[in-house]
Amino acid sequence: MSTASVLLLNAGYEPLGIITHRRALSLMLRGRVEPACDESFEMRGASSDIHIPTVIRLRYYVNVPQRGIHWSRQAVFRRDQYICGYCGLKPGDKQRGQVMKPGDFTIDHILPVSRGGKSTWGNTVCACPVCNQRKADRLPNEAGMKLLWEPKTPRSTYLVASGDIPASWKIYLKMG
Ligand SMILES: [Zn+2]
Repeated sequence: MSTASVLLLNAGYEPLGIITHRRALSLMLRGRVEPACDESFEMRGASSDIHIPTVIRLRYYVNVPQRGIHWSRQAVFRRDQYICGYCGLKPGDKQRGQVMKPGDFTIDHILPVSRGGKSTWGNTVCACPVCNQRKADRLPNEAGMKLLWEPKTPRSTYLVASGDIPASWKIYLKMG
C-alpha cells in the first residue's frame, strides 16, 4: 500500500475508503475535508510544498448506501460466521451424530422465496440443515422458531487493511 494513499473517513469517523493523494488534495482544496490525524506527507506544489494528512475526514456526513457490500450467500455466511441463526449450532458442533462443517450450513430466507421473500441482508440468515428443514416454507413464528439475532447489513467498517499501512490508520481500520 503506497504511503501516498489517504484514508477517507465520514464525518462520523467511519472509514469510507482509501483514496489517492490527488483526490485527497482535491477534497482539501474544495474545503470538503479536514485532517483527522497529525501524520502527513509532503507533496511538491507549484509555489510551496503541500502537507497532506494520511487520514482526512469529511466535514459533512454523507449517507453511503453500503456500497461494496453486495449480498451473496458467501457474504451471509461470513457475516453470521456459519452460526445457525435459530439454534446457535456452529462448525465443529455435532448434529445427528455428525460433526458439522461450514459446507453443511444453508441460507434461510426468513420470509420464504415461495412467498415473495427476497435475497437481502435483512431477509437471510445462516441456518443448520435441521432448522432449515423444520422451518421449511413458513415464517419463524409459524414454525415456532425464533431468530437469535436480527439479521442486518454488515457495517462498512469491514474495510480490512494489512501490511505496511500508516500508523494513523490503525485506529480506524480492522487489521487483518
Ligand atoms: Zn439450527
